[in-house]
Amino acid sequence: MKALDDLLAQTEFTDEEVARILRIRTPEEADLLQRRAYDLTTREMGPNVYLRGLIEISNVCTANCRYCGIRKANHNVERYTLPRETILECARLALENGYGSIAIQAGERRDPKWVTFIGELLRDIHEMSCTEALPQGLGITLSLGEQSLEVYEYWAEASGNPDGLRYLLRIESSNPELFHRLHCTPGKHEKVLEHRYEALVNLRKAGYQVGTGVMIGLPGQTIEDLVQDIRTFEKVGADMIGMGPYLTSLGADMVSLGQMPHDDLLQLSLNMIAATRLVLRNVNIAAATALETLEPRGRIMGILHGCNVVMPNITPQMTRASYQLYDNKAGTEVGAESNILVENDIVRIAHRTLGLNRLGSSLRWVERTGRPAN
Ligand code: SAM
Repeated sequence: MKALDDLLAQTEFTDEEVARILRIRTPEEADLLQRRAYDLTTREMGPNVYLRGLIEISNVCTANCRYCGIRKANHNVERYTLPRETILECARLALENGYGSIAIQAGERRDPKWVTFIGELLRDIHEMSCTEALPQGLGITLSLGEQSLEVYEYWAEASGNPDGLRYLLRIESSNPELFHRLHCTPGKHEKVLEHRYEALVNLRKAGYQVGTGVMIGLPGQTIEDLVQDIRTFEKVGADMIGMGPYLTSLGADMVSLGQMPHDDLLQLSLNMIAATRLVLRNVNIAAATALETLEPRGRIMGILHGCNVVMPNITPQMTRASYQLYDNKAGTEVGAESNILVENDIVRIAHRTLGLNRLGSSLRWVERTGRPAN
């Protein structure tokens, strides 16, 4: 036990040491890891948890990722794209609740009509959200998949708030073979890992705070893969991390491969969050909805293990059921009251403060750009 205590106090870790952390299973060791990751988060990031109102603006998707319930080949999903006015209302709701930032997520589309729709939307959100409480306007995290450098630049310019601009593009897995298995549909090789890396470089060039992440517990994934995932987060210079457990989806193409047993998957996910905090230190880490789906109050457990960002779902109720990336997705049935509950739990259970009316940018980004913390 003493040895683990010493290990967790280190500032640098070998691959074997990261693997040792990811393998933690006993309640005593798990408890120690949780406390160390939480305390380090307080020291590096302060006591705030930042809220990003999540708006799932469309489930139309041109990709066929094998794990995903809204993949193009799933014809049992009713497809939707929220009208501009509805998205603006959601953004207004975030602003009124003091969220400081929103996250805009959708399936993957690259057609000019979509690119322009997003550009104009970003302009409108900025114009609407520059207020006394938030003079720079709402911070915005985009999660709209792989696009060209020109598109990333166009959207960055349209957003009007260079200090509150982020993009989340998960690499899903840094293991090239596993990545290929996840993204190959019969006869067609869809996403390519190298393109994901190029997109991350382009996002940095276009001035975004760059976020990436992986799914945890994928069929065929090893502890060594997860260690390399963390190394990859370091290599690509990630400012923020969004990752969560892999959950099966009936509408996807991997049901027969199964899902890790609940307790193993939960512990591994929490270990991965804590290990990422210990290795990367001052990045923003978001507690994923998938963690909440796996376990009630999963996001609060994530915060206790090193997360400092939560993305309450503020998508209108009527379309939530159609954004089923995986089965029984948390928050599909419940509305605003679940967001109030999570805010209360952040304070009451995780003993954090809410970073209201703050952009809550990554301190890693502050360090690398010299921009003021916001
Ligand atoms: N299209 C964008 C992209 O590919 O980056 C963003 C939307 S995509 C639906 C958002 C994330 O959902 C993916 O990066 C993936 O990690 C996650 N996801 C999809 N299916 C999942 C599943 N079955 N279990 C857990 N996470 C899943």
